[in-house]
Amino acid sequence: MTDIASIIRDIPDFPKTGIIFKDITPLLADPKAMKETADQLAALFAGTDITAVAGIEARGFIFGPLIAERLGVGFVPIRKPGKLPYKKIARTYGLEYGRATIEIHTDAVNGDDKVLMIDDLLATGGTMAAACELVEELGATVTACAFVVELSFLPGRKILEKYPVHSLLKVSGE
Ligand code: AMP
Repeated sequence: MTDIASIIRDIPDFPKTGIIFKDITPLLADPKAMKETADQLAALFAGTDITAVAGIEARGFIFGPLIAERLGVGFVPIRKPGKLPYKKIARTYGLEYGRATIEIHTDAVNGDDKVLMIDDLLATGGTMAAACELVEELGATVTACAFVVELSFLPGRKILEKYPVHSLLKVSGE
């Protein structure tokens, strides 16, 4: 089994001073590690009643469809503003500096859906919390949130406390 921690690369001071950016591009370049990553995340939800996987642009679009395919359900893209062509709803949320907006198509999920939420990395949790609110505004249920990497020294898991949160790799210090 590949050690994900050894494949993900730390880039200090990107995109700004003081941030250690977790660069997943070496993981993407390794087909065995990618397969194991998708297999492990999907296995957590095998046999559950999940009806859709939602992924957050951009890196949730890499892992989300691999997991959706393994679970035999569809993939829902949650996108940055102005990208989705059909009717949509939006949520604006706070980042460390400034604000960001994400959008979802109004017909992406409905009251019958139980949704697995996917992103590459959990930091402060603001992005995933906003994504969950979009799914819930459309009447669907958020079954769980799952990540490849969790920065466990940040309060992301606390912010998402009303949902089950899963991650393959927990990074406990900077
Ligand atoms: P947050 O809303 O703070 O949980 O940030 C999550 C989003 O920002 C994810 O989509 C991550 O890809 C990205 N992100 C935040 N911090 C980092 C980091 N240190 N390294 C890589 N990506 C990050």
